Amino acid sequence: MISLPSKFPTQTRCVHSKPSLSSSGEIHVIVGPMFAGKTTTLLHRVQAEINDGRNVAIIKSNKDNRYGLDSVVTHDGVKLPCCALPNLSSFKQNFSQDAYDQLDVIGIDEAQFFGDLYDFCREVADHDGKTVIVAGLDGDYLRRSFGSVLDIIPLADSVTKLSAQCEICGKRALFTLRKTGETQTELIGGTDVYMPVCRHHYVSGQVAVEAARMVLQSQKVITRR
Ligand SMILES: [Zn+2]
Repeated sequence: MISLPSKFPTQTRCVHSKPSLSSSGEIHVIVGPMFAGKTTTLLHRVQAEINDGRNVAIIKSNKDNRYGLDSVVTHDGVKLPCCALPNLSSFKQNFSQDAYDQLDVIGIDEAQFFGDLYDFCREVADHDGKTVIVAGLDGDYLRRSFGSVLDIIPLADSVTKLSAQCEICGKRALFTLRKTGETQTELIGGTDVYMPVCRHHYVSGQVAVEAARMVLQSQKVITRR
């Protein structure tokens, strides 16, 4: 008898919390090597959302300034305005609470450069009810997991792996070969530094690049002497 009244407030709170739980978001991930059309696919999906009357924001890393920082541009020239940020946690600061609440869709390009990708995607999809469309490299030039892109696959509604065309034989390319001898993981560049390759030409290309690097190193040693 005594416990009954105290139960009602608890049940009332549960009912009130329902709207935020029912407005759950979505996470869609687009991966693949360089030149596979990841940004193009992201922009097409974003454009479709805009055409459906949804509010969209696009984020890219400020590390990649090849095409200017206020727009995102595909290799085939499609261009949309975007925020260039050092990390995703600074995204909300660019919006008033009202403007943020009205956002339906957030597109993230070059997602491998964002260390806080997992926490951001979980927060905005699970708690803020946004749809997040993420495009990024799944692997680096050594085919190792790049940044946090693969970490968000357990959170995702869908994962799309795109392929490019092997620059040597024209077959399906799943990997990015770095043509130069530099060894840091993050090295921004286009066709001057990278090429998409099939498995066969990735393996033979790595051997050739490594051999060239060894020759260059030995020449440096000889020069120093
Ligand atoms: Zn090939």
